[in-house]
Amino acid sequence: MMAINIEQVPGIQRRKFGHFVVTALNDGFIMLPPEAVRGIAAADSAALYRSAGRRPPCRTAINGYLIQTAGSTVLVDAGCGTFMGPHLGRLPANLGAAGVLPYEVDRILITHMHTDHVGGLLADDQAAAYPRARVTISAKELAYWSDRSNYDASPESTRDSFDVVAQVLGAYTGRIDTFEGAANIVPGIRALPLNGHTPGHTGFEIGVGASSLIIWGDVSHAPEVQMTLPDLTVIFDVDPDRAIASRRFIFERAVSEDIMIAGMHIPFPGFTRIARCGDAYISLPQVWQYELLE
Ligand SMILES: [Zn+2]
Repeated sequence: MMAINIEQVPGIQRRKFGHFVVTALNDGFIMLPPEAVRGIAAADSAALYRSAGRRPPCRTAINGYLIQTAGSTVLVDAGCGTFMGPHLGRLPANLGAAGVLPYEVDRILITHMHTDHVGGLLADDQAAAYPRARVTISAKELAYWSDRSNYDASPESTRDSFDVVAQVLGAYTGRIDTFEGAANIVPGIRALPLNGHTPGHTGFEIGVGASSLIIWGDVSHAPEVQMTLPDLTVIFDVDPDRAIASRRFIFERAVSEDIMIAGMHIPFPGFTRIARCGDAYISLPQVWQYELLE
């Protein structure tokens, strides 16, 4: 009898927003321990996962997103690379499955500089994994992680990012661009400051009206828990109060403008809408899209 292949299929999913094609690229998963979310007992968070149809312990996705137009190929975040174990670092293979080679990526937008978002900028030998790409980061974010004097005051669980960022800056010398606030990054892609999780944490917004998308970075690490209880923070937040304010701001906007959301820890295939539910919100994960419709 033939053995059954138990490997999963490539983690890619394409959607169209105006003239952009956006491809979710899965980098793998982490087991987010319940205590990573502050202020809720493990049993209560398990109950929220169960009410969303999931059985703990749940795997948390790490995603990147490719944005393509006729003129440019832009990656948003690069996954973990080799830094976080065997269940991660799959983004390059999934990029290949989407038909794109690393040297074809023109620009990489960074939501923030935690290892699970920038580790993948580095190849196995710590050289630049994307030989042509320019890397674009909020000036405030870059300043924070480039300054070692922030080390002791930063959340312990993310201090490894200082070393990873130093390696990234070495590998991409002369190819780093910064922006301030809500800048237009490239035609049709706008930065959306969502500070708090980190000092320069930024989402990216593309398209207009009904065909717009916000890639919100790490607004939520555990959507099943933090949509019901948006004031719960995670141990990785640099400024928890600002993280809550940014989360509530973007939840409201997503609801009132019915905007599609993508996020680095949104369950794959990586897109969701949000609905209001009393004082809370619920995530409406988008099912597999069969055709590339708007
Ligand atoms: Zn993250």
